[in-house]
Amino acid sequence: MHNLIEKDFKAIISLPPRNDTEAEIFSQWDSSGPEEFNFYGQDFIFPKGIHAEAKAKWIEPEVLLVEIFIEGEIVSSCARCLAPVSLEISGNLMYLYSTKSADSLEEDFGDEEPIELENFGRVLDIGPQIQESIFALLPRKILCNENCKGLCPSCGKNLNEGPCSCEKEISDPRLEALKQFKF
Ligand SMILES: [Zn+2]
Ligand SMILES: [Zn+2]
Repeated sequence: MHNLIEKDFKAIISLPPRNDTEAEIFSQWDSSGPEEFNFYGQDFIFPKGIHAEAKAKWIEPEVLLVEIFIEGEIVSSCARCLAPVSLEISGNLMYLYSTKSADSLEEDFGDEEPIELENFGRVLDIGPQIQESIFALLPRKILCNENCKGLCPSCGKNLNEGPCSCEKEISDPRLEALKQFKF
């Protein structure tokens, strides 16, 4: 089974018949997992793989709307204490594909900048957009718990398991200097 986040991943979808704005074509992909990767310095693992779905529909003769749905369980590490954290991610992203540039479209799609294509064939590779959707759905900061106390910066002990024996008072030379002043 292919991995959805590998470099040459292709997700080929068939396009609905031209000029039929009612028809919708559904495609789906599953990787058996695990998928492991590093994204901006953070390691992520999808132990059971990733599930992706796409629905393609013409909204104008030259404008194709593709709705991508991603679902999977990820394992990563807590930003404070480094403990493994497992969480579910899922979400939808919309993409527009068009042979026209954004300003020559009749309808205004707001922030949705269409991906410009030379022409539409019978099929389309939406692999890059599926990967982009997976990355867009990754949490920016992962915590095992909102109140995670993290690791002691001096001894490295996980402070969620109890206090360490390091000196509690923070000796900062600037604070020491302030103590000399009498207010
Ligand atoms: Zn933590
Ligand atoms: Zn300590």
